[in-house]
Amino acid sequence: MNSFFSLSRIIFALALTTLIGCTTARIEYDRMTATQYPQPEIISGDEVNLTTIYWQGERLVGVDEDTTNIAALTGPANPLDPNQYDYITLAELETVETANRRDPIGSVTFSCGPSNAYTCTRYHLYGVVVNHYWEGSCGLACRDTGMLGLMYAGASGATNDRSAFASFWKNSIVNSDNGKYLRSTAHEVGHAFNLNHCDGDGSMTIMNQTGTVGSTYNYEFSASSLDHLQNHADNEVWPGLSPRDYACPHAH
Ligand SMILES: [Zn+2]
Ligand SMILES: [Zn+2]
Repeated sequence: MNSFFSLSRIIFALALTTLIGCTTARIEYDRMTATQYPQPEIISGDEVNLTTIYWQGERLVGVDEDTTNIAALTGPANPLDPNQYDYITLAELETVETANRRDPIGSVTFSCGPSNAYTCTRYHLYGVVVNHYWEGSCGLACRDTGMLGLMYAGASGATNDRSAFASFWKNSIVNSDNGKYLRSTAHEVGHAFNLNHCDGDGSMTIMNQTGTVGSTYNYEFSASSLDHLQNHADNEVWPGLSPRDYACPHAH
């Protein structure tokens, strides 16, 4: 073996295990047939994706595009529009997750690094792009056409363990404006990392709601978001652990 490459590999592995601490999160990302994942955006010549966004918070997030052919659901006719079933309910989201989720909720640890001398930890977040609207809360069998995405907590039965999110492909922004779709996805992942809307800056950053940012937004975190991601306790930050903290600002 070329000694330069083997040395490089060791240095690289050491850098990963010492600098990063080898604690990561993996988004197991599924989608229904005829939907798309958010694509990277190019900002000032640099690619922006979920990994680069979360690296700002010094959290290493990998994306594993997994099952891409989940069938859209069919169901009872909507009394307001009997020919369609174009929305998904919370219970149905949980059913889709249960049928397709591979990574466990929470974390796994495994040996890593040179000679497997290190212990790495990986946390898991499940994401799914559904070819539906969100059911919303507008009454019997209606749709919320304005909802882009939702961190719905996951199908574990735990109260809001921040372990899963969905994007609603039928929303007209999601299926036509990739920049906002990527922003919305990063926002839902932010909820899984225990960030709240008060962690937005009120104008441009990721944790503002879509209606707040309008068409002027960036892919950055506010100071309070960065403080949470970089400095707060791991078990309050990584997905799939403690219940979401709704307090604004953070109570922990
Ligand atoms: Zn939100
Ligand atoms: Zn915090």
